[in-house]
Amino acid sequence: MGVVQKAKGKINSLAARFYLASPKIVQCNICQWEGKHFLGTHWHPYTVCPNCGSAVRHRLLFAALNLKQFSFNNLVAGKKILHFAPENILSTKFKNAAAKYITADLLRSGSEMKLDIANMSSFPDNTFDLLVACDVLEHVPDHIKAMQEIHRILSPGGYAILTVPQKDHLATTFEDPSIVDPKEREKIFGQADHLRIYGDDFPQILTQAAGFTVTVVNESEFAEELVKKHVLFPPVLSTDPLATNYRKIFIAHKS
Ligand SMILES: [Zn+2]
Repeated sequence: MGVVQKAKGKINSLAARFYLASPKIVQCNICQWEGKHFLGTHWHPYTVCPNCGSAVRHRLLFAALNLKQFSFNNLVAGKKILHFAPENILSTKFKNAAAKYITADLLRSGSEMKLDIANMSSFPDNTFDLLVACDVLEHVPDHIKAMQEIHRILSPGGYAILTVPQKDHLATTFEDPSIVDPKEREKIFGQADHLRIYGDDFPQILTQAAGFTVTVVNESEFAEELVKKHVLFPPVLSTDPLATNYRKIFIAHKS
């Protein structure tokens, strides 16, 4: 973690302690912090937990693990888990409950393995029960190969929990490998290191590429009261045309 990030973290936790502590209107369903409201990012105001840094997608993912069919006990507890681009707060929860837990990343340091999600030949077939990759595939040149690799290393009956940035109401995923200029990528895909912008066809791509059965979980699965309390949906919609207002958790099942 860099000096700036550390300083930001300190300021955030101070803000949490002194300025946002009451009244207790929102609660992070991951770290249990409670307060007036969450902090903002340049994409979305009031969405980031000042204590653990969780965003809407992380809290939605955690909420999804409360659903009967995808419960924490069924998907995480006692399982063999591979976690790509691991978020600290999720990492701690998964590591404590899993039978085997490995973190991996191709570009960022701090993970146990340097691993390309599109080429995981260091693992034999059927190695893991669960793979978690939040906002990873948009960085991967051959995402179809990545989906096939995810399917291959999962054991039959295993799950992948995936999130990707999506342009709201875009039907078909858009990519153009000829766009290589970081500024152009930022303008078209939303970030300088993103290689595509996903549309509503993401679950179909997963099915076609690798044969996954995909369940899409969004805030509509949960009571309105819980959505507001845990901020499972942005309280203020971003007007940025590339913002993902309508976050979804994709739970891909290998039969
Ligand atoms: Zn939190």
